[in-house]
Amino acid sequence: MTKISDQLAAGQTFSFEFFPPKTDQSARELEKTIGELQPLGPSFVSVTYGAGGSTRDRTRDIVVHIQRDTGICAMAHLTCIAHTRENLVSLLEEYRAADVSNILALAGDPPADPGDYPHELEHAIDLVDLARSVGDFCVGVAAHPELHPRSGGNRELDRRYLARKLTQADFGITQFFFEAHHYFDMVDELHALGCYTPVVPGIMPVTNAAQIQRFASMAGAEFPAWLADRIHQVADEPDEVRKIGIEVATELCSELLEAGVPGLHFYTLNRSPATRQIYNNLGLGPACRG
Ligand code: FAD
Repeated sequence: MTKISDQLAAGQTFSFEFFPPKTDQSARELEKTIGELQPLGPSFVSVTYGAGGSTRDRTRDIVVHIQRDTGICAMAHLTCIAHTRENLVSLLEEYRAADVSNILALAGDPPADPGDYPHELEHAIDLVDLARSVGDFCVGVAAHPELHPRSGGNRELDRRYLARKLTQADFGITQFFFEAHHYFDMVDELHALGCYTPVVPGIMPVTNAAQIQRFASMAGAEFPAWLADRIHQVADEPDEVRKIGIEVATELCSELLEAGVPGLHFYTLNRSPATRQIYNNLGLGPACRG
């Protein structure tokens, strides 16, 4: 199956992120979403992984299903912090056997009690190395333009760890952000450290005022006052919130694309309308990308 590194070498990538559904009903909704997004010709899609391993089989099954049954290149997220090496190797071997060539290597958030996890692989970079030792995987990693929430605000150190991780990986995907300068600053700082690994910006359109503020605070992303003001003015009108969210995300994507970013990765929350609307606004689609 295609490697994302080859796609990035050939041009900009456009990708969609899903999470593994918990119920039959949400599984049907995801199928519908995939069917609606497939005509946009994604370069790849990705499926998240529960940090403690709660979605181990579900993530694997969906990734394998998407790749086998739709032909779309599917990347599996995998977190290492709460897992033993042996556990991770066995899952990576299952991916290798299923011809899944792309892995997003993450640390995941540590369980609250340090006694509750094995402390074998503490950082995402350890999983990059492990994946490479198991198979010929293309390995991506996470990047946080506004610093990792556990960085304690130490910008220089956080960037150094990120540069080191990216240098060992094939590409990065960012946490979402609402102002392009966060992404551009991160890239400049990585270049200053000699790191030129492509980093694809992650885009999260605002579709629900309360939800996005919660996500942003968990992800260490600023929810800027100008956006909060606009959203709060229409907070009781869900259609208006969505309209503003899509308009703001379209402007952000335009600015990023104009600057020549390596691609765009959409956090879809397993729904297609916002992503489809942004695609439409941007004039994107398989035919437009050449
Ligand atoms: P790391 O790269 O290990 O970094 C974590 C912290 O440790 C940072 O502060 C870093 O500066 C520091 N650090 C790194 N190396 C060292 C070192 N050698 N010594 C000391 N400190 C170090 N979470 C999930 O649970 N499941 C998912 O599917 C998922 N998908 C994601 C997808 C994307 C695109 C992004 C951006 C995030 C995703 N996350 C996911 C969230 C991610 O797992 C969390 O942010 C997690 O807290 C850290 O993961 P990381 O891979 O960034 O960690």
